[in-house]
Amino acid sequence: MKKYNIAIIPGDGIGKEVVPAALNVLHTVAEVHGGIQFETKEFPWSCDYYLEHGKMMDDDGLEILRNYHAIFLGAVGNPAIVPDHVSLWGLLIKIRREFEQSINIRPAKLFSGLPSPLANPKDFDLMVVRENSEGEYSEAGGRIHKGEDEVAIQNAVFTKKGTERAMRYAFDLAKTRKGHVTSATKSNGIVHSMPFWDEVFNEVKNDYPDIKTSVNHIDALAAFFISKPQTFDVIVASNLFGDILTDIGGAIMGSIGIAPAGNINTNGKYPSMFEPVHGSAPDIYGKGIANPIGQIWTAKMMLDHFGEVEMGERLLQVVEEVTAAGIKTPDIGGNATTVEVAEEICKRLKQ
Ligand code: ATP
Ligand code: MG
Repeated sequence: MKKYNIAIIPGDGIGKEVVPAALNVLHTVAEVHGGIQFETKEFPWSCDYYLEHGKMMDDDGLEILRNYHAIFLGAVGNPAIVPDHVSLWGLLIKIRREFEQSINIRPAKLFSGLPSPLANPKDFDLMVVRENSEGEYSEAGGRIHKGEDEVAIQNAVFTKKGTERAMRYAFDLAKTRKGHVTSATKSNGIVHSMPFWDEVFNEVKNDYPDIKTSVNHIDALAAFFISKPQTFDVIVASNLFGDILTDIGGAIMGSIGIAPAGNINTNGKYPSMFEPVHGSAPDIYGKGIANPIGQIWTAKMMLDHFGEVEMGERLLQVVEEVTAAGIKTPDIGGNATTVEVAEEICKRLKQ
């Protein structure tokens, strides 16, 4: 029996609704598959925990998490009771930094039964690999002078190690998909970092002779997401470009409640963390109508990360069957509850 130890942090708001739903599905898929077991332990770290204990997580929290194969997280944040900078820095960002989760991966794909703004929804099935620790979101720079003469300078920081790490991850991922990597660049306008980005890409691609590559400037690439999404498989992008592309991907998918994500530690020293793109959605918390697909798909990404690809594929297939059958939460045009969607997925997995 293969066993994976997973730390569960439901967190705040609808995290507390969609995480149990996704765990139900995860345990069911393991049971149906056989030979595999998920040992899960839940941690109550959240804004409620902060109100009670004055901290978002226990002092030895990171030490505890370190020993798990992965962290499965719902959502963190409840600005009505704890300011976002306190909750995010006290939990999410702390974990990401400590465990060197330098890459953010986000798949985007259209399921049957969902409304789509695209002419050929079937064509939309891609994965964005976003560098998540440096790039344009750096603290380097500053402001000088005042008034009319004021100047703001913002430096982007691209290290060879960080850039190469993201690219190698993208190429390795492409091997398990359609075998194509697109580099998101802007070397015709950004004269230092992006030519460097292109150079590293050209170097790395030599190590992957079987993977096809293409290079697009970010502005054209963003438009191609809509006009010819069939040309994409894996896209590797800097922190800023990846941020923008993944939001376009999310919008095309129809609801933020569907979009999954993984924060990946690539050196294998620490656990990676899997969390959906959506937040705690206080506006719908408690109504039982949160879409669990984002969290369930996130579980599938965790399975892929463990190398349990077949299980993950089966899981996603059943999710698609369920949306196609019209068993959907209100955000994607249905009237099912969180629990009903998850139960239906479990039922079909067992058939
Ligand atoms: P963050 O916590 O990242 O700041 P936010 O407050 O900007 O996030 P979300 O909490 O993701 O955003 O919510 C944005 C909108 O999407 C809300 O109206 C929310 O109800 C809706 N939403 C988010 N997740 C889901 C979901 N799983 N199912 C249905 N609706 C959702
Ligand atoms: Mg929020």
